[in-house]
Amino acid sequence: MRIVLLGPPGAGKGTYASRLTIVLGVPHISSGDMIREEIKAETELGKIMKEYSDKGKLGPDEIIIRILEKRLRKPDCEKGCILDGFPRTIKQADALDEISKVDLVINLNVPDNIIIQRLSSRLVCKKCGAIFNKLTLKPRKDSICDECGSKLHQRRDDKPRVIKERLNVYQKKTEPLIEYYKKKNLLKSVHCDDLMTPPEVIVEKIKLIINGFQNANRS
Ligand code: ADP
Repeated sequence: MRIVLLGPPGAGKGTYASRLTIVLGVPHISSGDMIREEIKAETELGKIMKEYSDKGKLGPDEIIIRILEKRLRKPDCEKGCILDGFPRTIKQADALDEISKVDLVINLNVPDNIIIQRLSSRLVCKKCGAIFNKLTLKPRKDSICDECGSKLHQRRDDKPRVIKERLNVYQKKTEPLIEYYKKKNLLKSVHCDDLMTPPEVIVEKIKLIINGFQNANRS
């Protein structure tokens, strides 16, 4: 099953996808993580992408599509995948349509004030990718990853000025995908209006939607 998680930065796409990947047994593909890997490894592509990412801008569609196409053609994606952060523009969605069929799009509907609070208190593990939050999802030990024991960091683009720009970019470039997928009859929305709602609650809601889809398509 191919699922796209859609939603503004900080909506929880990565947090939920990392839990759903275990339940569904399909890979979690995060365009943001793939790009951060390139930046960390200082590849040519990483150097180009760093300029965009540091400013909260989207990278060029051609580059992103090329990276994602390569990833989606790997054998582990044959049974499906959970896409987090891709597509983010109409052009990317059209390209995805050509690469592989999307079964379901989950739109995470989260108000801006919650996004801003969440992103400014988010902590990530650079080593294993686990995501924590100083307010809502605290690590057991201060600033230390529960999963691998590495030190936790604030992402370079989780600074207030960059957060604002990422939200602007989301509204301009990505929000039109809501209508795009609604028209294709693939969109289901999940609302989260409370900063303190634990991830498990939202994951359960998403699982119900997925089960509903699977049952409807079995009969
Ligand atoms: P966010 O937390 O804002 O959803 P991500 O971790 O998904 O951010 O991505 C970080 C950065 O990587 C983005 O700000 C952007 O520069 C780049 N990026 C990730 N995915 C895409 C994409 N599909 N198209 C263009 N740029 C992307």
